[in-house]
Amino acid sequence: MLIVASHNGAIGMRPAMAALRDGASAMDAVEVGTRLVEANPDEHSVGYNGYPNILGELELDASIMDGRTLDSGAVAAMRGFPYAISVARQVMERKLPHVLLAGEGAERFAREIGAEAWGEMLSDEVRQLWRGRLTTLGTDQADATLPEGTPLLDLVKVATDPERVGSTVNFLAIDSAGDICSGVSTSGWAWKYPGRIGDSPIIGAGNYADNRYGACCCTGMGEMAIRAGTARSVVLYLKMGMTLAEAAHTAMRDLRDLGGDYIGHMNLIALDRHGEHIGLSSEAGRAYIYQTGEMEAHQGVEREVVPILTR
Ligand code: ASP
Repeated sequence: MLIVASHNGAIGMRPAMAALRDGASAMDAVEVGTRLVEANPDEHSVGYNGYPNILGELELDASIMDGRTLDSGAVAAMRGFPYAISVARQVMERKLPHVLLAGEGAERFAREIGAEAWGEMLSDEVRQLWRGRLTTLGTDQADATLPEGTPLLDLVKVATDPERVGSTVNFLAIDSAGDICSGVSTSGWAWKYPGRIGDSPIIGAGNYADNRYGACCCTGMGEMAIRAGTARSVVLYLKMGMTLAEAAHTAMRDLRDLGGDYIGHMNLIALDRHGEHIGLSSEAGRAYIYQTGEMEAHQGVEREVVPILTR
């Protein structure tokens, strides 16, 4: 049994491991762990009280993948439902002929299955931060909204705060049957364009699991993981015979081929079917956490650094 997570998954680690020890599946453990992060008001990159889009609306993305069957479910740009990982799981389990639901469709589905809805998804403090951001951009704080029809194109380009573009939670688990599951949940970039969808709900970009080889999840600038198919690349490189370290490093180095103005940071965690794990980041000082069935508590590991910006 093994759970590997991004550092902000710490709050969910103990219950997720307890679930595994009680015989729960890797998928249950991923869901249990992720939900605790989604409900944590101090975590501003995932679930309730995440940083909203430029209009002050919280839009959540999440996905979950079953490495045994390659089944997966995902939601994107979903408002009003804090437990995005659970709605994503239901997209998979209710046997919809779909993998990913977005926006109003995802919200309609969440209502239809009776998913927990929270009327207020932002604290006053986060709302205040968003208002403050609008004010620094010269918009009118008084009505706390952007007037209908305000062009957002240029505003979004300057609104994104490099200190607060986001983060995300990643969970990877292997259960006692050897089944692997991977899950990702995020509120995405702070102050993003409404409807912007990152890598987290895109199977192959921010999330991929296959029992035969291993699994990978990403955080960081989702646009890059989408363009390079990062999570799937790691698993495909494992399939091609690379070691876990070779596979993960190669997928990170692939990001150097991306051009354009919006090249930023990327982080990944990955494991192989033998339970080896690794965490990489393009920035120094980033950690991930893991816990095996034999360990009393989770342990942090510094991620190896793979620079992306070589120009
Ligand atoms: N990957 C997330 C996204 O692009 C954000 C992050 O992890 O910082 O939505």
